[in-house]
Amino acid sequence: MSSIFQDNLSRLKKAQEVMGFSDSELDYLSKPAQIKTATLNVSGKEYPAWRIIFNRDLGPGKGGIRFHPEVSEDEVSSLAFWMSIKNSLADIPYGGAKGGVKVDPKQLSEAEKEELSRQYIVNFYKYLGQDKDIPAPDVYTNSQIMAWMLDEFEKQTEKHEPGMITGKPLELGGIELRQDATARGAYIVAKEAIRDMEGENEKPVFAIQGFGNAGSYLAKMLNSDGYKVVAVSDSQGAIYNEAGLDIDKLLELKANKGSVIDYKEADKISNQELLNLSVDFLALAALENQITESNALQVKAKYILELANGPVSNEGDKILADKNIVVIPDILANAGGVVVSYFEWAQNRTGNILDPEYLVKLLEKKMKLGWAKVYKESQDRKITLREAAYVIAIDRILKAARFRGKV
Ligand code: GLU
Repeated sequence: MSSIFQDNLSRLKKAQEVMGFSDSELDYLSKPAQIKTATLNVSGKEYPAWRIIFNRDLGPGKGGIRFHPEVSEDEVSSLAFWMSIKNSLADIPYGGAKGGVKVDPKQLSEAEKEELSRQYIVNFYKYLGQDKDIPAPDVYTNSQIMAWMLDEFEKQTEKHEPGMITGKPLELGGIELRQDATARGAYIVAKEAIRDMEGENEKPVFAIQGFGNAGSYLAKMLNSDGYKVVAVSDSQGAIYNEAGLDIDKLLELKANKGSVIDYKEADKISNQELLNLSVDFLALAALENQITESNALQVKAKYILELANGPVSNEGDKILADKNIVVIPDILANAGGVVVSYFEWAQNRTGNILDPEYLVKLLEKKMKLGWAKVYKESQDRKITLREAAYVIAIDRILKAARFRGKV
């Protein structure tokens, strides 16, 4: 078993120490409920694919599908585990799941991406559905991919079922709010954290690792509210200007050239240098395992805001906690994406179209409530925010599992 999943076990064990559940319950919480695998075939090449439901005591499986060259069963399992924790913490009626295809989508044509997306569904449609397991976008997947997947699902099952997938285009039952929901949720949580831990009038300085969907929208929101973003990065490199970056220009550059590194009014720095900057907030919006025991000591930010899933390893966490660096954990900070997926799903199932303004308020309310309960639990028990989030989430899952007679 590789380190990502080992990390989850360590975090579960820590929760057990704090909460005192039994070893058989720990064992139950440590194992995925269902693992399905397939090999997809596009243009003569084979791509391994997974769909894993980690836990379904609170409801159907829910979580994205990623296309990435590093995808593995261990990673998909860990991501499915995190979805279980995240959905439980957000108080939405879902278990946790994740899917992945080991592929570099940048090497595929549009037609090949469509073929890959359709094949994914041909292989897994029997295990998906609005009451079984509901995918969504994740790293390198988007609303077009969700559209192909929905279309293939409906072809296979010969009926309309838009609630089988979220993050769809508006015309297929998607929801406007979904596009920037992860960033919006993280921004709400960050502002709550600033108010509670720093004071109402503080305007901290940010650096953002990752300028994809979550990172770029966060940068835009921060910028338009007058917060300074001094550094951003993407897979090609990082840029830094102490005086702040013009995010609108960067967005234009990213859209036209595919990267932020050609931005003129900043110094080019390495990804590692970005992680080491003396900023107030370091937002991690790239991939997992970015801060580990090998580099956590060099981190100088006061706060880490996790928009990616699993960007700080368990050992990294311990070092950061020793340095009094506050980590606002992924399962709280990036839950906006799946909360809005839940709105989309609920709308699809009832046929009731909800007012977008009402949904924005509902998202805000949920994120604020999430922050308040995690912050309180961490203060009451004198544990980190991540540990507190795990305690709250596991408590809900375990109660449901006990009611079901599973443990
Ligand atoms: N991929 C996103 C996440 O990791 C969203 C999942 C969803 O909406 O189901 O939270």
